[in-house]
Amino acid sequence: MKKWLRQLEIEKNRCQSCGMPLQFDPQGGGTESDGSHSRDYCSYCYADGTFKDPQLTLEAMQQRVRQLLRKRQAPWYIRAYMAHRVPMLKRWRSCKR
Ligand SMILES: [Zn+2]
Repeated sequence: MKKWLRQLEIEKNRCQSCGMPLQFDPQGGGTESDGSHSRDYCSYCYADGTFKDPQLTLEAMQQRVRQLLRKRQAPWYIRAYMAHRVPMLKRWRSCKR
């Protein structure tokens, strides 16, 4: 319980595509085209300066986030909260809903 509450508090350094805290990324973040680390996106979403899955829709990303959290056995309210937050991330903010 406590660890999930702490996760909610980690508002900084989240991937701006999927919402995962970058500190949980084993690669420490995605990479830019010059090989430096991205401060905005995780290694699952972003590599060499581009999104790994540029066709991904907002709905598909929300689905992916739910599945990922289910695998990590997050409680339902964390899954709902994280999926709810996806549209507010930088990648999706300009998308029509
Ligand atoms: Zn990501």
